[in-house]
Amino acid sequence: MSDRNPSPAGGPLVEGPRDPEHDATASYALEPEYAESLTRRLLATTGETVEVRSPLNGAPLAHVPQSSADDVAQAFARARKAQQAWSRVSLDDRAACLLRLHDLILDRQDEIIDMIVLESGKARKHAFDEPLHVALTARYYARTAHQHLDTQRKLGVVPGLTRVEVNRVPKGVVGIISPWNYPFTMALCDGLPALLAGNAVVAKPDAQTMLSALLGAQLMEEAGFPADLWTVVAGPGADIGPEMISRADYICFTGSTATGKLIAKGCAERLIGCSLELGGKNPILVLRDADLEKAAEGAVRASFSNAGQLCVSMERMFVADQVYDRFVERFVARTEAMTLGASLDWGVDMGSLISQAQLDTVVRHVDDAVAKGARVLTGGRARPDLGPYFYEPTILEGVTPDMTCFGDETFGPVIALYRFHDEADAVARANAGQYGLNASIYSRDGARARAIARYVKCGTVNINEAFGATFASIDSPMGGMRESGMGRRQGSEGIHRYTESQSVATQRLIRFAPMLGMSDATYAKVMTANLRLMKKLGRA
Ligand code: NAD
Repeated sequence: MSDRNPSPAGGPLVEGPRDPEHDATASYALEPEYAESLTRRLLATTGETVEVRSPLNGAPLAHVPQSSADDVAQAFARARKAQQAWSRVSLDDRAACLLRLHDLILDRQDEIIDMIVLESGKARKHAFDEPLHVALTARYYARTAHQHLDTQRKLGVVPGLTRVEVNRVPKGVVGIISPWNYPFTMALCDGLPALLAGNAVVAKPDAQTMLSALLGAQLMEEAGFPADLWTVVAGPGADIGPEMISRADYICFTGSTATGKLIAKGCAERLIGCSLELGGKNPILVLRDADLEKAAEGAVRASFSNAGQLCVSMERMFVADQVYDRFVERFVARTEAMTLGASLDWGVDMGSLISQAQLDTVVRHVDDAVAKGARVLTGGRARPDLGPYFYEPTILEGVTPDMTCFGDETFGPVIALYRFHDEADAVARANAGQYGLNASIYSRDGARARAIARYVKCGTVNINEAFGATFASIDSPMGGMRESGMGRRQGSEGIHRYTESQSVATQRLIRFAPMLGMSDATYAKVMTANLRLMKKLGRA
């Protein structure tokens, strides 16, 4: 056991395993009362449950009640009512809830991280990124609320006589569909700006990681967000997703590109907006003037954080010929020094994959590459001795276009290395394929790296860092180009997506028609002369 502080509620962990075969209430990893205090938050009346087990060791965690179509309808009806009242709460009071959430998350981080590790199997240090990201997001939007949401004055068509204001009106009820890989932050971070903008949320987190999302919902209630403003439903995405799309005013989706396309189609049918944060095959470029120690350290985090199950993690690395051998030596050494393990404690460098399905994909991609001639520089093996879904951090060389992992997202701890001679060629190869989420460039010359970044077709580019610099800089937009997504989270785009902009213009003294007995022809001449004058005066 770790040196974690107990949570205020006494903590979710049982001291030692009890045997569910002989004790109907027993759970190997979580106190049943604790798990039930979370699953009770679901709006789910079918009577059916789905068992969730920990990827750390296969121990049962909870039985998660499942929602029906009627439950989803009920969730939206309640959310609509709650939203009407919430939209009249002052912006400062809404922002205050976010700042309380910020503090609660930092105070209760041990409880949150335990839950994330138990549900996802990731290393504790990678789980820590999640409360960190939610707290950053909460603080950022609370502190910039007025900047994004206050009514703004715009240029009126007739200077001094046309007063124009733009209001940011909440969309209404936002549906959030989130994946399992970052179960706490992906369930919460997109919803915080939605609430701040005056919306309600109905959330459908992934079935494998429902408890982390429900713990987030509980913390939101403790932070003072009103009841029914954030309702969580559970069930298969293919059933619950369409029910949500048919009722929501906007959908925020994070997950695979294939599902994202289905969501976009459903939203198009109803002409509602959606933002889609999807997959990637992210490239990292190590230029000839890179600090190789820094690049090797970054490459480990870029490739193996959360065992590679990270939308912005790197699966392709292009290294300048002049430094290739020296870089590879350092990267392999650092990778081989990583500790792997199934543990709630700090000190583990990489944890488990989340499921058999993920492990199967990783094994399939690596075996296919090796069978077709790729070389394994390190890794390349499942590690059932550590836990059911462990796979070693793996570096491949000699990957060619006929291999599945050349262009398909593995979403696991596997990276392919390629040499380049010419930077323009490296950028062209990095831009190949249908994705465009995140990239990384290592160079001692920041200005040159930034110039190269402009030609990389990715929504975020990190210079001398793996992904954290862009992901944690909440003031700037984050999202994918091409098949990696549509729309952006974070920054002003991340909150404006949940609002309708409404222009209100007040006209004084003149009207937009001939006046004082003027003919239409004279009116046209006067207006033409006006337009010429405005251009001369430099007006927009
Ligand atoms: P997925 O698309 O299978 O599932 C994501 C969510 O969608 C889950 O909640 C699932 O239940 C739901 N869903 C499934 N089918 C649905 C349907 N027909 N209608 C509505 N909802 C449905 O993705 P996954 O495999 O769980 O997640 C991994 C993928 O997510 C990877 O491709 C990864 O790159 C991507 N991802 C992207 C980001 C990002 O910010 N761009 C972040 C995390 C993960």
